Amino acid sequence: MSGRQPHLNARLQGFGTTIFTEMTRLAIEHGALNLGQGFPDFDGPESIKEAAIEAIRAGHNQYCRMAGIPPLIAAISEHQRRFYDLSYDPESEITVYSGATEAIFAVLQALCEVGDEIVLFEPYYDSYRASVSMAGAVPRLVTLRPPSFAYDPAELEAAITPKTRAILLNSPHNPSGKVFTRAELEHIAELCRRHDILAITDEVYEHLVYEGEHVPLATLPGMRERTIQISSAGKTFSFTGWKIGWTCAPPAISAALRCAHQFITFCTANPFQHAIAHALRLGDDFYGELVADYRRRRDRLCAGLQSAGFEVLRPAGTYFALTDIRPLGHDDDVEFCRSLPARVGVAAIPPSVFYEGRHEGRHLVRWAFCKSDAVLDGAIARLQGLRGAAS
Ligand code: PMP
Ligand code: GLN
Repeated sequence: MSGRQPHLNARLQGFGTTIFTEMTRLAIEHGALNLGQGFPDFDGPESIKEAAIEAIRAGHNQYCRMAGIPPLIAAISEHQRRFYDLSYDPESEITVYSGATEAIFAVLQALCEVGDEIVLFEPYYDSYRASVSMAGAVPRLVTLRPPSFAYDPAELEAAITPKTRAILLNSPHNPSGKVFTRAELEHIAELCRRHDILAITDEVYEHLVYEGEHVPLATLPGMRERTIQISSAGKTFSFTGWKIGWTCAPPAISAALRCAHQFITFCTANPFQHAIAHALRLGDDFYGELVADYRRRRDRLCAGLQSAGFEVLRPAGTYFALTDIRPLGHDDDVEFCRSLPARVGVAAIPPSVFYEGRHEGRHLVRWAFCKSDAVLDGAIARLQGLRGAAS
């Protein structure tokens, strides 16, 4: 980003417009198939839609309980026990927000003094970096490097200082698709305990795991009491526009989070909370089919990208796949993604914008597979044209 943006305060200088907005705009402008921004091009189950409509008809249309409606916090508590054997008191330990994005913002606003440090792994979901800055905190970056996106333990240890307030961890990880291993999580947990710091875990892709298993950090010894677990309904139920997210954290931490949340949005869309209370209680068949369906989409996209000449870094989780673009003669992801919609009619995301040191991700491009087969196949067919055009 070059130049100073007028009117904008120093904390937000340089953030510009998010890459998701930029690439979706280009996709619309050029009529491109959008494998960029991570939203499904299909809706979630009809019964969840019906529950939202029913809630509107039943008159759940005014402000509601600030920290989340009773049926939803009860359903989140049941979900945590059902999948992870974690026990959270709905009243004092679960808080509902307008999406995980608000949860991340509220958590950092609530916890950080100006100058506190937050350890982030890069590439990171873009809102982390901006939310850290808006809270007056300072990011300390640890780089995840391809192909495995493992981190260097010494780099993480060196990122922790007396000013560290928390480590913010995203697993399954956007954009790499990495699922942190139990050994990595044990190392992170040990550092949190040793240095008496908090963990903030973004687990919005918790149900989209194809290889390995999702281990919430809060399940490791001594971690429940120092972890703020964040999740959201958007990815699991394919209603990203409904923006229902939540945190699970011990009572004293939750009280602090609510202090911030009450002045950010106060409460979250009432009827959609009712619908997600229903959604979280869907049977095991729903969750099983979700993974099977996305595994199939992943395999379809990865095979197609490979056939188009990319080197594919097969994701273990999330609904994104990264590719190395160098085999096709490119080494600048931003340039590649900015020209792609006009060139071949496909949109994707350049991951270097999720790094502080942009050179780290320049040879990678992220493709979303939360799309219908027709869109995936159409995009793959269009991308075949790139090979001949390789410089
Ligand atoms: N965290 C990660 C890692 C994400 O990828 C996203 C969005 N796709 C979010 C948080 C935001 O979730 P929400 O839409 O619930 O705000
Ligand atoms: N999280 C989504 C992605 O990574 C996008 C969310 C957004 O548009 N802010 O694609």
